[in-house]
Amino acid sequence: MIINDEPARTIGILKKYNLMPRKKFGQNFLIDSHVIGKIIDAAEIREDDCVLEIGPGIGTMTRHLCDRAARVIAVEIDRDLVKILKEDILRDKDNLSIINEDILKVDVDELVKTENGGRRIKVVANLPYYITTPIIMGLFEKHVPMESLTLMVQKEVASRMCASPGTKDYGALTVAVSYYSECYLAANVPCNCFMPRPDVMSAVVRLKVLEDPPVRVNDPDSMFAIVKAAFGQRRKTLQNALINAQGISCTKEEVANALESMGLSPLARGEVLSLAQFAKISDILGK
Ligand code: SAM
Repeated sequence: MIINDEPARTIGILKKYNLMPRKKFGQNFLIDSHVIGKIIDAAEIREDDCVLEIGPGIGTMTRHLCDRAARVIAVEIDRDLVKILKEDILRDKDNLSIINEDILKVDVDELVKTENGGRRIKVVANLPYYITTPIIMGLFEKHVPMESLTLMVQKEVASRMCASPGTKDYGALTVAVSYYSECYLAANVPCNCFMPRPDVMSAVVRLKVLEDPPVRVNDPDSMFAIVKAAFGQRRKTLQNALINAQGISCTKEEVANALESMGLSPLARGEVLSLAQFAKISDILGK
């Protein structure tokens, strides 16, 4: 039987340094060694990998990442935690760089150049839930060289990432994730695996980054403007959602004609379109 000593270890660290987990930084520390093992396994870390960990917290997962990978870069916003990690908890790890920064402000591309010679990294994180989507979209949109992202996210966000067209969870995040990666759900994680317990269920997703997008589109930015408009007003027909949307100039008739030429109802809502259909309508309207 594997003994889970993470709860005692976490309580010990919080007491030793008189720390209170900070809600504003989404600090829910993982205290289940079985779940940590699942994340590390799902990430498929090899000994020559360079891993970026976002939000190492009190270093629970970081220690395992350092033992598996060639190099680990950990970006943590909380100055107090960074001090403890550097001076005590992870002092013995010589393949680790700890950076005290807000991940949304870091030039990750530059970091990958300096730390890994521009070669692709693996991202592993128990993400702060208040900024899950900006972190993921930021990494994708800046085309950071990545092989995969293995992420603990809110269960509801995991469902949105892996959703199918026409379902209630299908949205702009689904379309973006499927443009850049292949997504699968690696594990569901209950609230009692964290300290303090979050109010929501969590899940681990693995996004395998695609070398080339699965569809060809002339102007990805225009396609994403359409996607954003379509789901910004998801109860509206695509015609109505697009005519007043920022950055898109087309008439109702043009949208209706485009949909008809694709074999779809002119009154279709955006939520029924697949990624390939968003690419197609973007190309038609762009002409
Ligand atoms: N990895 C640790 C674990 O699994 O126990 C902590 C995970 S906790 C859910 C999220 C971590 O992200 C916290 O350590 C928090 O301080 C850090 N964090 C929050 N916002 C951040 C940001 N903008 N940039 C970098 N780190 C951030």
